[in-house]
Amino acid sequence: MLSSLSFHKDFSALRFSTHDIGVVGVSLKQSISAEAISALIFEPHNQDFTWVAQKPAELHLEIERENDHCFKVHVQATLVLNNTCVRCLKPVSKPFCLDFLIRMMEKKHLGLDDNYDSLAEGGSIEIDISKDDEDLVGYFSGTCIDLGIILRDQIFLEVPDYPQCDGAECSLPLSGIKGLNALDRDDERGNNPFVKLLKKT
Ligand SMILES: [Zn+2]
Repeated sequence: MLSSLSFHKDFSALRFSTHDIGVVGVSLKQSISAEAISALIFEPHNQDFTWVAQKPAELHLEIERENDHCFKVHVQATLVLNNTCVRCLKPVSKPFCLDFLIRMMEKKHLGLDDNYDSLAEGGSIEIDISKDDEDLVGYFSGTCIDLGIILRDQIFLEVPDYPQCDGAECSLPLSGIKGLNALDRDDERGNNPFVKLLKKT
């Protein structure tokens, strides 16, 4: 079970109990520290090319209660992430905005819950993305909607697995760099192993 609190305590601000989401819903602006964002997306098996935030992320969140088992979540976020070019090892900076809607549905109500998840404290999050990448649907069990985990999933979809600078002097990769082996994996968008981990349907 993945909880954003296991990455950084600041994500407690992005965990919502469904009991606290009233009829009018929730709307808030939240700044998440660079340290917390970096902890959220740290890749322990790919430390040389892990993404790092150097500025706080600015989030705007809206949660709408559709019924007791279904919540519509709108996330807008502005982030600047840094990495190292896999070819020339110069710094790469990637500023980007996330803007997505995801419908979070309670598993038990849908008959999808299994005993293991229903026993897990705080519940769990799974995210499905339809083929056209437009209909985001997530499932939660228990009463906690953990937006930190959703944010993590969407950041990994946005950043390239092989960051490259656009410098004119960007050269061919150096051999024998620690960590390059870790990059020897399918480069297809969405095949990030962390994203796969989250899609254990
Ligand atoms: Zn480069």
